[in-house]
Amino acid sequence: MRKPLIAGNWKLNLGLQEAAALVQQLKGACETEAVDVVVCPPFTALSTVAQALKGSRIGLGAQDLFWEPQGAFTGEISAPMLVDAGCRYVIIGHSERRQHFGETDESVRRKLSAALASRLIPIVCIGETLAERESNRTFDVLTRQLAGAFDGCETWDCSQITLAYEPVWAIGTGKNATPEQAQEAHAFIRQWVAKRCGIQTGEAMRIQYGGSVNASNAAVLLQQPDVDGALVGGASLNADAFGAIVKAAREPKAVTR
Ligand code: PEP
Repeated sequence: MRKPLIAGNWKLNLGLQEAAALVQQLKGACETEAVDVVVCPPFTALSTVAQALKGSRIGLGAQDLFWEPQGAFTGEISAPMLVDAGCRYVIIGHSERRQHFGETDESVRRKLSAALASRLIPIVCIGETLAERESNRTFDVLTRQLAGAFDGCETWDCSQITLAYEPVWAIGTGKNATPEQAQEAHAFIRQWVAKRCGIQTGEAMRIQYGGSVNASNAAVLLQQPDVDGALVGGASLNADAFGAIVKAAREPKAVTR
């Protein structure tokens, strides 16, 4: 049984006071043993949120990292620095980083390797654009992104990796994938991982869905047999909405695989 993982990606939002206030609200709404819950604030708020989370089950994650541990890389943040700031998770390869900041499959691989070396739990984002879906290239794109990220994975502990299927056309648009579309993509991803890393790893790997998840659509998406949680953007900034998504993740699945 894969334990659901609900992660909130706060993106470029919230100052220190707002971040601490949101954590106080989430502490009430999201404390459960049945679901792993994570918040990913901007780098500047990591230490404040780490302090605010003391004594809570909610984990801390970052939204990105750089692959070198230290050195002359102005503006970058390394995996050991994230650990130092209290992080246990890190998002890698978010489509906004691929789209606006030149993230490539190769940089995703290097970041993934660096995260694992520091024992961070990576949440690796993959997903197709609308044009790619409409031209029936979804599985080709997922295959390319997975192959790029997992190149050299023979030396890694892949059991630590979480994947997030995030169709780019669903992120921040209010237009989520249908449960059938999500399940189809997740089953494909799991099969790919099983082939590349072994059946056990494929079965154990958590695959989150991301893209306009909210309090109303979470339950049906999270009921899909291969959907093991959600990566939540906009709705993670609202404690009631995020709490409702966590609650939906606690429901046992009617159909498992
Ligand atoms: C995201 O940022 O990963 C995301 C899925 O955003 P939203 O939930 O706002 O679509």
